[in-house]
Amino acid sequence: METPNFSIEFFPPKTGEGAEKLRLVRQKLADLRPTYFSVTFGAGGTTQQGTLQTVLEIQSEGHEAAPHLSCIGGTRESLRAILQQFRDNGIRRLVALRGDLPSGYGGAGEFRYANELVEFIRQETGDWFHIEVAAYPEMHPQARSPQDDLQAFARKVQAGANAAITQYFYNADAYFQFVDNARKLGVDVPVVPGIMPITNYTQLMRFSDMCGAEIPRWVRVKLASFGDDTASIKAFGLDVVTGLCERLLAGGAPGLHFYSMNQAVATTAIWQRLVK
Ligand code: FAD
Repeated sequence: METPNFSIEFFPPKTGEGAEKLRLVRQKLADLRPTYFSVTFGAGGTTQQGTLQTVLEIQSEGHEAAPHLSCIGGTRESLRAILQQFRDNGIRRLVALRGDLPSGYGGAGEFRYANELVEFIRQETGDWFHIEVAAYPEMHPQARSPQDDLQAFARKVQAGANAAITQYFYNADAYFQFVDNARKLGVDVPVVPGIMPITNYTQLMRFSDMCGAEIPRWVRVKLASFGDDTASIKAFGLDVVTGLCERLLAGGAPGLHFYSMNQAVATTAIWQRLVK
């Protein structure tokens, strides 16, 4: 199989120990030769320094790195300063998001939606950055309707996004239909599926409830039946997610973006099966 483009996402570690562990994880994942690594950004700037620091470390190891940037809670001035910092450090790619404010966080900031951030980045920095935005094949949980959400996605592309990464999903048809519908609206940028490896049933159910990703019933039932047999959960998860990736790539997906959760094993196992 021809090697598809793929990228791997990390979150900034909170402790020195976490940073050390992530260095080892990166070494392993770098062997897979991803196109780039991305690093999440806590809304309201909560991880701002950690994001930049992790991106700079990845760059110094010789790999392309894209910081995420979320605008909720930010001001034009604060975002301008961050963009300048990214430029000063030779960063050319970023993932632009609205973000979700942590509960209890005060002011809403000057940006309401991610399309406003994309527009601002283009106004401020022209074509300097390659901008990825988020897309939701199973609909963003706060959207009024799938059609509204698709229009919101189209607005981000019209504002200047070059490509999109999706929220994770386990239903390939939702992805294919989303891309078809986007194309009908004239949106022609690459839409890269976001892939969440399955390694832990409880964690998967919790994340999926929060972000609106559906776990197909047969997958849920089977995972639940394994109880605390983590080896079986991981083996089954590997089969399910590799099958999903195969179907997506065979159907024309332009690449894959792995939510690594700062772990190397699951992403590596899926990738090795795909390229064998
Ligand atoms: P938007 O595109 O602004 O959409 C948010 C909601 O508003 C949607 O329901 C949309 O339909 C609706 N909407 C948009 N425009 C309008 C309008 N004009 N009127 C009414 N409704 C509208 N979060 C982080 O905090 N940090 C990260 O690093 C991060 N990385 C992510 C990476 C990926 C690939 C993905 C898929 C998500 C990531 N998230 C991250 C989560 C993301 O911030 C949340 O999903 C957030 O709730 C929405 O962000 P968005 O950029 O998609 O927002």
